[in-house]
Amino acid sequence: MSAAAASTVSFDSRFATELAEMAIPWRAEEVPEPRLLVLNGPLAAELGFTPDFLRSPEGVRLLIGNDVPDGATPVAQAYSGHQFGWFSPRLGDGRALLLGEIAHVDGRLRDIHLKGSGRTPFARGGDGLAAIGPMLREYIVSEAMHALGIPTTRSLAVVATQRPVQRETVLPGAVLTRVAGSHLRVGSFQYARATGDDGLLRRLADHAIARHYPDVAEADNPYLALFDAVIGAQASLVAQWMLVGFIHGVMNTDNMAISGETIDYGPCAFMDAFDPATVYSSIDEAGRYAYANQPLIAEWNLARLAEALLPLFDDDEERAVERAQESLGAFRRLYSAAWTAGMKAKLGLDRVADDAASPLIDELLGLLREAGVDYTSFFRRLGSAARGNGVMARILFPQPDAFDAWVERWKALGPDADGMDRVNPAYVPRNHLVEEALAAATGGDLEPLGRLLERVTDPYRERPGVDRYAAAAPESFGPYRTFCGT
Ligand code: AMP
Ligand code: MG
Repeated sequence: MSAAAASTVSFDSRFATELAEMAIPWRAEEVPEPRLLVLNGPLAAELGFTPDFLRSPEGVRLLIGNDVPDGATPVAQAYSGHQFGWFSPRLGDGRALLLGEIAHVDGRLRDIHLKGSGRTPFARGGDGLAAIGPMLREYIVSEAMHALGIPTTRSLAVVATQRPVQRETVLPGAVLTRVAGSHLRVGSFQYARATGDDGLLRRLADHAIARHYPDVAEADNPYLALFDAVIGAQASLVAQWMLVGFIHGVMNTDNMAISGETIDYGPCAFMDAFDPATVYSSIDEAGRYAYANQPLIAEWNLARLAEALLPLFDDDEERAVERAQESLGAFRRLYSAAWTAGMKAKLGLDRVADDAASPLIDELLGLLREAGVDYTSFFRRLGSAARGNGVMARILFPQPDAFDAWVERWKALGPDADGMDRVNPAYVPRNHLVEEALAAATGGDLEPLGRLLERVTDPYRERPGVDRYAAAAPESFGPYRTFCGT
């Protein structure tokens, strides 16, 4: 029985056929003894798979691209990208493949994508492989983001290849099966533009519109409307990152999705102590992708998208540039509005006017920074303060006088405690807990991973009693560093 027959899910190859110039047909490396480490049952069901099928030997072969279902044409996608500000015309999937698209229960298509599936023509010096730790890391953080209500690619499964991967040490290999609205990136448009083929650029834009923003097809200038839609989606996305203390870590233009989903979980991390200058990535020496820079970088990346789309905005180049600038001018306003609304909700002040809330917000962030307060704990504990029990929030400040004065003014505005609990998570994938789960899993023990996933995929429901999953890292954890391309 073929994989497709057993799964009843039908695969499409829209990208591979509509954008053949940007798709190299390729096959995943054969894995003789794959072993399923984790399967996302609910997501499998949303995609129409029976979880039991995906757990079977046949299903596992489908998850790693070793059985290609009917209708699928696995391809390595071509894209360019500005990496830390420098343009690379030819990046592309060096160790990944788009297996094909399938329909989600919501009626829209999803990409089924493999990461760590072997070298492709874009691999350059890379080995095309991935290790268990980083693939489980993407699984944990992307599923946590989804549970927080933040647009993101999803993780369907991680399969161990039971083969060695050479990094600083030899590590066990794995393939991540990723699910996304699409893998169209700012860098995809940069690639199409760099070919000089405006027909290809237009086809790519039409493909993006059909998949993500079908309404803009009706606009006077659909391509400008597409740009506006991406600006809106990114302004909202980055505001949500900032509100939960998420640092993407490598916001290169090839790692920014047109859909507005968070994509490419590499050196990302959740901020512990509040400090706008926080950088965890070991290679981000200049702090380009520091926490506080993320909105500016998003805007910079969107300017690169505009440059790529220019020929579609207007035949007259000057006019095209003017229109692009006009559109991009909205980013800061949209971002600020989304961030302020979100911060008001975190403080239980949805119903308070912006001019009353804003000075309180600014002052609070100053206090959190000065005292290096744990970001996630603070907002969750502040919910209790709204109910009259302020002691747990207060003890986060070594010298609480200024905080006490702030609380008085905040409480006078009547914060909504229940509303706060719905937006301030008790659980995020804290760095020390993620590292603990990955180290155990790499050594064969999947229990800590399971326990962590239980918390972070249900982040607003606080478990009673003392809970190490809600606590900041112990001093002994030390300064944290994350790594790229691992
Ligand atoms: P990333 O940092 O994951 O966004 O990757 C940047 C580029 O490097 C992409 O073109 C990847 O496909 C490629 N790449 C990263 N790791 C590997 C690897 N181990 N083998 C081949 N290509 C890789
Ligand atoms: Mg990438």
